[in-house]
Amino acid sequence: MGANLDLFDRARRVIPGGVNSPVRAFGSVGGTPYFVARAEGPYVWDAEGRRCIDYVQSYGPGILGHAHPAVVEAVTRAASNGTTYGAPTEAEVVLAEMVVDRIAGLESIRFVSSGTEATMSAIRLARGATGRDGIVKFAGCYHGHGDALLAAGGSGVANQGLSGCDGVTAGAVADTIVAPYNVVPDLDETVAAVIVEPVAANMGLVAPADGFLEGLRAACDAAGALLVFDEVITGFRLGRGGAADWSGVTPDLWCFGKVIGGGLPVGAFGGRWDVMEHLAPLGGVYQGGTLSGNPLAMAAGRTTLELLDDGAFEALTATASRLADGLSGAFADAGLPAVLPRVGSLLGVFFGAGASSGASSGAGPGPVVPPTDFDEAKVLADNGVYPKVFHALLERGVALAPGAYEALFPSLAHGDAVVDETVAIAAEAAATVVAGL
Ligand SMILES: *Cc1c(COP(=O)(O)O)cnc(C)c1O
Repeated sequence: MGANLDLFDRARRVIPGGVNSPVRAFGSVGGTPYFVARAEGPYVWDAEGRRCIDYVQSYGPGILGHAHPAVVEAVTRAASNGTTYGAPTEAEVVLAEMVVDRIAGLESIRFVSSGTEATMSAIRLARGATGRDGIVKFAGCYHGHGDALLAAGGSGVANQGLSGCDGVTAGAVADTIVAPYNVVPDLDETVAAVIVEPVAANMGLVAPADGFLEGLRAACDAAGALLVFDEVITGFRLGRGGAADWSGVTPDLWCFGKVIGGGLPVGAFGGRWDVMEHLAPLGGVYQGGTLSGNPLAMAAGRTTLELLDDGAFEALTATASRLADGLSGAFADAGLPAVLPRVGSLLGVFFGAGASSGASSGAGPGPVVPPTDFDEAKVLADNGVYPKVFHALLERGVALAPGAYEALFPSLAHGDAVVDETVAIAAEAAATVVAGL
């Protein structure tokens, strides 16, 4: 038996499903997962020594690529001074100042240990600050696994084919309203907050329609509700100022995760002072954490943000664009209908059902239209093509996420040569997939 399967068997004996996050079990693509032994730059090596070009990058934190020397050095140095104290440190102040400096309109921030904690805390804060209960979220947006936000979630929830989640009480979601993405919902004075992924990246990649985010801002203002941007993916990836800067729409609260921790467990939520001052110890909304603001995590986050200057975002966008164009061409040449929606450096892929009979013939199922909401995304994500492409790529040394609802995460370590190698491999993979359709 191979080392991957051996580890998976051992894992399944002691960990539910063998994994600590459901998507990793390969349930939605079939087969069994590779276990990572190490990683560097654009590559991961599995337990059997096989190298893959990695577009998972931990679903976003790996924006510099794996094991960036500056991050490794910063974390190592921090660890030698002790790993956690239960008292404040300068490192927390520095990272908070960096975020406040980068995000216009964000005046105060608190660090937590995951994106889930960030959104849970932001929702509690929004309720505490407004004295209202209602929450509006959008179908296909994923905000972590807090009870109130698990209704109609994308990402892992969608990959598992779960419509909801056992163990979430009716009471916990009674005040959650789910609306379709890209339609501005009617709000009334019971709504505390509208939470949205400003670019949806957990139902594949779905861009906000023109006027959608502006419409949410106006609707929240009219109803006295708070607008919460879940920037756990878009923050420090869509640019220095994240999606707020990119869209020109300023929310009342922001949630961060992934990139902000540089690969260590970090989340954060922040916003205007008049909202944030409701948090304990200033106000009556309790929130805290033993490892919140952890010195290793702060060191990794600080080093990562320092390296993400304007030039870095230009380079990242150029890489994503080269990858999107290359893959689009490779899939089209093979007669595999696909669309690769891209917003800045954020990239998704959707496949149409069935093979087209070639670009030149004009016959076949026609172009795949980029989805605008969860219903449209589901039709493409669930048509059975993604798992085939996924495995054809993985066999050839390219790792996408093991689920059709995830985005691709090229990093700053994915140079042109790596992208071009990916495209060449994709051409081969697509040809075998088409032959089998
Ligand atoms: C990943 C993600 C989360 C949850 O973050 P965790 O660190 O996994 O808890 C929340 N919101 C969005 C948009 C995400 O992509």
